[in-house]
Amino acid sequence: MKAIVLHNKGNADQLKFEEVETPKINDDKVLVKLKAASVNHLDVWVRMGHFPVSYPVILGCEGAGDIAEVGKNVQDFKKGDKVVVLPSITCGQCEYCLTGNDNLCKNAKRLGMTVNGCYSEYVKVPQQNLLLMNDKISYEEAASVPVTFGTAWRVLMSLAKIKPGETVLIQAAGSGVGTAAIQIAKLAGVKVIASAGSDEKLDRAKELGADLLVNYYRNQNFDEEVKYLTNGNGVDAVIEQIGGNILPRALNCLKKGGRLVTLGTTAGNKIEIDVQHFYRNNLTMLGTSGITQKEIRDVFELVKNGKLKPVIDRTFSLKDASLAHKYMEERKNFGKIILKP
Ligand SMILES: [Zn+2]
Repeated sequence: MKAIVLHNKGNADQLKFEEVETPKINDDKVLVKLKAASVNHLDVWVRMGHFPVSYPVILGCEGAGDIAEVGKNVQDFKKGDKVVVLPSITCGQCEYCLTGNDNLCKNAKRLGMTVNGCYSEYVKVPQQNLLLMNDKISYEEAASVPVTFGTAWRVLMSLAKIKPGETVLIQAAGSGVGTAAIQIAKLAGVKVIASAGSDEKLDRAKELGADLLVNYYRNQNFDEEVKYLTNGNGVDAVIEQIGGNILPRALNCLKKGGRLVTLGTTAGNKIEIDVQHFYRNNLTMLGTSGITQKEIRDVFELVKNGKLKPVIDRTFSLKDASLAHKYMEERKNFGKIILKP
């Protein structure tokens, strides 16, 4: 089969389109013929060496396709089923798995990092890493759900615990997580202020349902703008994935008792914050990485029912994975980038 293999960390040219052996499954595994794999910032970071990787590895943490073969012990799926492939193979036995926090599993194997992933014609996984699709959604849409919608669901519902009538500021609204978060927040009855670095992305955010728009590239004092837009009150919650000098200003956007969830630092990891402002206003800052299987299942149901719709920006052929990575690194996308084997 053809696959994109990473032999070493480095730039996008490290993504090699190669002929490799098609995976052989044992009695407990399922072989999926992939129809779509989605590209995530995570893949770029993996490629750059920011995570432990077992080289050589086939990149790609999520995808969708048809089941080609099932092992003897697989009960829940059969050949021909349309499925989405989830990113982490968890142990089900460690203290985190047993308490429902399987996103923190001590023994997790990660697709596209420590086991072969979805930038490929075929992938093998255990059945607990599959969810059944329906005919209402495309493979491209299904492949876009686990990481972006799963993450957006987790940060809004499990961590920020948004409630109807509240206001949330969604930073980097044009990103995959951002576009998902706008839709989830609207579905939950929350007022959305979307922020992004370009007016084009903000226009698209408005189409997705954002109520108010802030351009943090043009207005470095975007916190003052958010205060103005909320009649001086500030927002109940912020979804923050930029970091750098943006995060301290994002904290200023919160009203008393507000919650900020941080899940990415594309603009830098080290920040300086006013701790006195933080405690006097009873602010909360939560960090997160990964998504529980339950969170992915919950949000996937809403996608299958048409309540939420993944935004697909552009599709590349699998062999052009390096172009897809460059496109993502140039921040040209609004919504998901997909690879088609
Ligand atoms: Zn575990």
